[in-house]
Amino acid sequence: MLKTHNCGELRARHVGQEVTVAGWVNRWRDHGGLAFIDLRDRSGIVQIVSDPDAAPQAHAVIQQARNEYVLQVRGSVRARPAGLANPDIPTGEIEIVAHEVQVLNPAKTPPFYVYDDSPVDEALRLKYRYLDLRRRRMQRNIILRHRVVKYIRDFLDDRGFIEIETPILFKTTPEGARDYLVPSRLHAGKFYALPQSPQQLKQLLMVAGYERYFQIARCFRDEDQRGDRQPEFTQLDLEMSFVRREDVMTLTEELMTGIVEDCSAKELLLKPFPRLTYAEAMRRFGTERPDVRSGVEPVDVSDLAAGCGFGIFSRAVAAGGQVKGIRAPGCGTYSRRQIDELTDLVQREGAKGLAWLALEPGGEVRSSFAKFLTAEEVTAIVERMEAQPGDLLLFVADEPKVVGPALSALRLEVGERLGMRDVGVLAFCWVIDFPLFEWDEEGQRWDPSHHLFTAPMPEDLPLLETDPGAARGQQYDLVCNGEEIAGGSIRIHQRHVQEKIFELIGLDVAVAQERFGHMLEAFEYGTPPHGGIAPGIDRLVMLLAGEPNIREVIAFPKTQQAVDLMAGAPSPVEPEQLEELHIQVVTQGDQ
Ligand code: ASP
Repeated sequence: MLKTHNCGELRARHVGQEVTVAGWVNRWRDHGGLAFIDLRDRSGIVQIVSDPDAAPQAHAVIQQARNEYVLQVRGSVRARPAGLANPDIPTGEIEIVAHEVQVLNPAKTPPFYVYDDSPVDEALRLKYRYLDLRRRRMQRNIILRHRVVKYIRDFLDDRGFIEIETPILFKTTPEGARDYLVPSRLHAGKFYALPQSPQQLKQLLMVAGYERYFQIARCFRDEDQRGDRQPEFTQLDLEMSFVRREDVMTLTEELMTGIVEDCSAKELLLKPFPRLTYAEAMRRFGTERPDVRSGVEPVDVSDLAAGCGFGIFSRAVAAGGQVKGIRAPGCGTYSRRQIDELTDLVQREGAKGLAWLALEPGGEVRSSFAKFLTAEEVTAIVERMEAQPGDLLLFVADEPKVVGPALSALRLEVGERLGMRDVGVLAFCWVIDFPLFEWDEEGQRWDPSHHLFTAPMPEDLPLLETDPGAARGQQYDLVCNGEEIAGGSIRIHQRHVQEKIFELIGLDVAVAQERFGHMLEAFEYGTPPHGGIAPGIDRLVMLLAGEPNIREVIAFPKTQQAVDLMAGAPSPVEPEQLEELHIQVVTQGDQ
């Protein structure tokens, strides 16, 4: 090795030792007489000092070194003079007096400071990702990610799981997104599809008798880059044979609890994780991904608002809709401007407006609608909302599919403003009993709400014939702080049930045979009952790291536009390459 010690490991016990360290110049200071360098490697920082009289060569090199130069330093460890220790860093009690210094490589002036985590434009960070990755924040995140994956591997190995790789060049494995396609050179006009998940392959591994499989699997989905998504992302993909949904959920819960407790300093809010049915999640929180940290919950006042003198309320109820509200404790003094901000928020979610009632601390009522109601009606609503003086009540009236998302966004915002969404806390919950299908208006057909291999609840099997919309699936989603962390299900393992699902989603028999014939055939060779789940590693690590998006926990992520700014991908290719692939590119202008 070019070094005897790592920079960050040196302590008072090393005083008097001759050591060699190597790393990057984090910062340098020339104090006329003495010159100082903070030398950084992955383990941390150590202070180097050079004295022109004692070691002129070393001093000369150190004087010309600049940020991010790579140096090798031989010297002796000594205690820092009294009063000059730095309690903020682990090596703060000592320094290395340089005897000999070599520049292993100089560096250009970096486009941003590496030595601190001050904000830098994200495009610049992504273009110089290798410099960004040197910064403490990214280093912490990438190491945390490694810890989490290592924990997962050990945990599953202890429980008899086997890690098996599955192909990247494969055939469509649909999860509801567009496929990435790879043209075949050897087979003109044919394409591989990159897996949206290893779903089919892990099921086939169950047919093959492996019983417990997992993989840290890369998944590819060509989606419009709405929200915080990446064209490729990583899942812990797992599958088990001879299990019921309870078994998969229990194992996953133990794994998640272990990861949080072992790899992070976050507090788990609720143990065991609460379970909500889909219907309950929608009714209570207006979303299938509830953030249960935010204490405020929507309250239904439709019965009290029906027939009242405020047309927006009474008309909504008369049309089969609802009036629901949330209580914002202590926000009764909100100004019109603050209330307008909340109105804008619900309007962005599709609501027409926000009705409000403020109970001022002194007891007087300010409201956008109370004047249209009788005193008794106002009192009944205030009581139902369990409002206290000083509270602000916020209401949305419309169809449930408008009210749900609007109040969901509103309660998150109010929770945020009231400091209820502590990033130091992780609140997991399960959502179960999803409808098996969603109705696709445009295509006039049923769409699987999870994916097409999810088994119906056994007692709902007859509904596939009579009322598919009412059938529930054996699906379970794991949610944490309002983010979907994992989705899974017990699978169909019988050919006739799988064929029935294909039929209901309008998949033509010939197409189903072409795409999934191998699955249908496999089901006829003794398929065990099986099920699995796939937690998203990026999102999990993001929550553990307290980061606002998954790009912060991926070494080389793409932008929202699916571009790699560092290497410049996607990029044009040589005409010969296209020719070999039997591909002709037609741009809009050529058509
Ligand atoms: N393949 C599913 C997904 O990627 C997870 C599963 O059902 O195991 O969401």
